[in-house]
Amino acid sequence: TAMIEVQGLTKFYGAVSAIQDVTFHIDKGEVVGFLGPNGAGKSTTIRILTCYMPPTAGQARVDGLDCVDKSLEVRRRIGYLPENVPLYNEMTVRRFLRFVAQAKGVEARAMTREVDRVISVCGLERVKNRIIANLSKGYRQRVGLAQALINNPPVLILDEPTIGLDPTQIVEIRRLISDLREDHTILLSSHILPEVAQICQRVLILNKGRIVATDSPHALTAQL
Ligand code: ADP
Ligand code: ADP
Repeated sequence: TAMIEVQGLTKFYGAVSAIQDVTFHIDKGEVVGFLGPNGAGKSTTIRILTCYMPPTAGQARVDGLDCVDKSLEVRRRIGYLPENVPLYNEMTVRRFLRFVAQAKGVEARAMTREVDRVISVCGLERVKNRIIANLSKGYRQRVGLAQALINNPPVLILDEPTIGLDPTQIVEIRRLISDLREDHTILLSSHILPEVAQICQRVLILNKGRIVATDSPHALTAQL
């Protein structure tokens, strides 16, 4: 069954065409790479899926729910890691995650358990009482992932999750994402194939606002 369904999706910003007639679906439990150069339309597609803005034409559905008509329900089903996570620098990791959990409607009596759960999943125990501003980039990205995992949403949309990290941090974030594959349907955007090749079963390639290929990373690598 399709967890993400995009049909004939088209978006204009004024006269600028960002995506045209984009169609794809992602089945439950799939991990799919969303690949394309800068300006290809990845962020636009993600902005529509995360209900940040409506499409000009076409339809996007998450778990069978329309991203425009059922935006509140859709948002509850998506854990989103944006390219630049807005972290509250002066807060401790724990305080920030409690703050996000509250915003996402986690009840007071479930709060500590849920925050401790995402801290554990993301390997943040060691830094949970530290101020976010003092963390390394790798840890900050794990905090970003942790906030996306609050309420255990079935769908994860991760926008360039390893950009700007050093090789060790990249390996750690990749391992973390791999561990999440079992329980989540994942869309992972990137502008380079090696980034998604190791984690994804399938890759969608977007260029100039259109889907130009969809295949296994292995098949795509062979074509290079
Ligand atoms: P990507 O995420 O793949 O880099 P985007 O979806 O950000 O691609 O951009 C697709 C196209 O739409 C680009 O030509 C970009 O300049 C344009 N675009 C994106 N956002 C806006 C906006 N808010 N206003 C006008 N044009 C935009
Ligand atoms: P990304 O590719 O990661 O989305 P962008 O630089 O395309 O990064 O977009 C950053 C911000 O600038 C977004 O809010 C986007 O809507 C806006 N933007 C992008 N391209 C344009 C554009 N041509 N005109 C106006 N706003 C744009």
